[in-house]
Amino acid sequence: MKVTIYANSSSKTTQVATELHTKLVAAGFEIDDQHPDIVLSVGGDGTLLSAFHHYSHMVDQVRFVGVHTGHLGFYTDWRDYEIDQLVAGLQQDNGQSVTYPLLSVEITYADNGDTDTYLALNESTLKKLGSTMVADVFIQDELFERFRGDGLCVSTPTGSTAYNKSVGGAVIHPRLDALQMAEIASINNRVFRTLGSPVIVAPYETITIRPQQQSNFLFTADQLNTQPRPIKQICYSIANRRIAFAQHRHNRFWKRVETSFIGLDEQ
Ligand code: NAP
Ligand code: MN
Repeated sequence: MKVTIYANSSSKTTQVATELHTKLVAAGFEIDDQHPDIVLSVGGDGTLLSAFHHYSHMVDQVRFVGVHTGHLGFYTDWRDYEIDQLVAGLQQDNGQSVTYPLLSVEITYADNGDTDTYLALNESTLKKLGSTMVADVFIQDELFERFRGDGLCVSTPTGSTAYNKSVGGAVIHPRLDALQMAEIASINNRVFRTLGSPVIVAPYETITIRPQQQSNFLFTADQLNTQPRPIKQICYSIANRRIAFAQHRHNRFWKRVETSFIGLDEQ
């Protein structure tokens, strides 16, 4: 089996990554950055997101394992003091994985109709810089609302505990296939009206955002952020590819949510 380590640059992480590398080589694993079967991300959720984007062109062929060296750890099942256990698990690996949905994003530009596609693991947002964003929101091909506010956030179930949660979206169990759209500071009064709550659409449904102005947008897909040229529309759907995790221990999702956000033990 070919493996690679993808680590952030903190000193704690470097130490853990070095130990992991040594133990993997000693256990007979081949290290291959180009065509790995398994990508071991060492750091935090942000590191796993970067690892995903680094290997997203071959997401069908790789499985991920997250080792975390501090903070929370939603995508990172393994702690830094469990390296021996993890390497032993990988030696017995029988190809099993758990998979989660990804967000597919297709941007169509206003000037010449060109398109760009992106894949996101957490979410994608469209925001306006400096003034109110006005955009029509379609679910399937039906106009749903005219949004006015700072922006919109469309997230995956595993991304629901990230940005989505900060803007009042619901936390969704990662085994559900669904997309969630949450508003970022919508204007709601007698004149302007949006639903005002997050919506969760069915797996086959698409969400399309058509900005009514042409400039000053900030577009994000996980950590990536750009100020794209004028946008005609952005279409969001569940991607036909999924992310796979090896050696996963994601089965106590609600416990993870409790310890990360509530911390009953510490009260
Ligand atoms: P960051 O600023 O370090 O991330 C913000 C926090 O989100 C970190 O604590 C990160 O954990 C955590 N996080 C990432 N994915 C998560 C998930 N699926 N569930 C729960 N927490 C999660 O930036 P980053 O590490 O590069 O991560 C990029 C992500 O930051 C974006 O995808 C977006 O979700 C999030 N973000 C949030 C806000 C907000 O809440 N207002 C604004 C911008 C971006 P680690 O410390 O383990 O990395
Ligand atoms: Mn981070």
